[in-house]
Amino acid sequence: MVDIDLPGMLSSYDTKNLTIATVCSHSSLQIFNGAHKEGFKTLGLAIGEVKRFYDAFPLGKPDDFFTVDNYKDLMKYADELRAKNVIVIPHGSFVEYLGAKNFLTFNVPTFGNRQVLQWESDRDKEREWLDGAGLTMPKEIKDPRNIDKPVIVKYHGAKGGKGFFIARTFAEFSKRVKRDRPYTIQEFVMGTRYYLHYFYTPLQNTGYKLSKGSLQLLSMDRRDETTIDELQRIGSIAELEELGIHPTFVVTGNIPIVMRESLLPKVFQMGEAVVEKSLELFGGIIGPFCLETVVTEDLEFKVFEISARIVAGTNPYISGSPYSDLIELNLSTGRRIAQEIKYAVAHNKLTDILS
Ligand code: ATP
Repeated sequence: MVDIDLPGMLSSYDTKNLTIATVCSHSSLQIFNGAHKEGFKTLGLAIGEVKRFYDAFPLGKPDDFFTVDNYKDLMKYADELRAKNVIVIPHGSFVEYLGAKNFLTFNVPTFGNRQVLQWESDRDKEREWLDGAGLTMPKEIKDPRNIDKPVIVKYHGAKGGKGFFIARTFAEFSKRVKRDRPYTIQEFVMGTRYYLHYFYTPLQNTGYKLSKGSLQLLSMDRRDETTIDELQRIGSIAELEELGIHPTFVVTGNIPIVMRESLLPKVFQMGEAVVEKSLELFGGIIGPFCLETVVTEDLEFKVFEISARIVAGTNPYISGSPYSDLIELNLSTGRRIAQEIKYAVAHNKLTDILS
């Protein structure tokens, strides 16, 4: 449970003078750029020395840096950060570096609903949420002896697909699995991958309206994963596996993509169902989230994961995407977050979008 006194923290804030802060990694260039465009001051949270590469990107560089020896040390500086009127924008690396437990008790106002972490990081609860929303997820294989077609084996907490492997039989599974680590076995879904970037506002009722607030689709990407996405350049996967070379799923980048337009109604239906179910389960997911999907040859979506905050797949779209261009020009997810904070300040609703 999140145990944070948000109204108490905000009572000392000068809301006309907020600073948007995030950890210097992942999607930080986009978050700082978007915050600047909306007139906010920005602060980069970094370890050790300030990363020089920000000098190369003046429009993505934070106004200031706050350096610590270790990300977990940020916990000790919560008072100092609050004195700067900081609102933290969490991204995947932020939560990973700080640690999930610390994130839930970090005493600095944070964009989004932190309760969501418990529903997204536990694979059983994630399934309860997404199944409950009526989404189709890849089948789970409880007993590896029942493997009779390709499966993907996922280690819990392994970020970015590290160590995941494909197996086609129980024998293959047994040869490769590391039994000391908890894992889930899922059917390997054949199809094309789309990572859908949504934004849910509980505050604004324009556009695609939900029971409360509204939903936007800002962009989509496909992840570039090594080595699976390039393996075919040196042979078929079967040939390579005979030589002991196995595909891996470590993300190295993101490729912009659009989807055939006839699939968009389904994209909105899925996003809507996920938000409505989240309102019922834990008070709602707020701001950006991503459904990670495979579209099969029957044009069905199988959703294998949800990321409940800004994903790095939004990075190709700092100047907007083919979808966000139809909402407003130059609208990145980072900028949309800043707009939501600005709107909440203007309407005295910060407690509705922070935790
Ligand atoms: P992250 O937290 O960064 O999203 P993760 O470690 O939770 O990653 P997943 O996103 O679940 O891992 O999976 C990593 C990759 O494995 C996916 O991007 C996709 O390419 C592939 N993958 C995952 N599940 C399936 C599936 N059921 N069928 C086919 N491919 C899959």
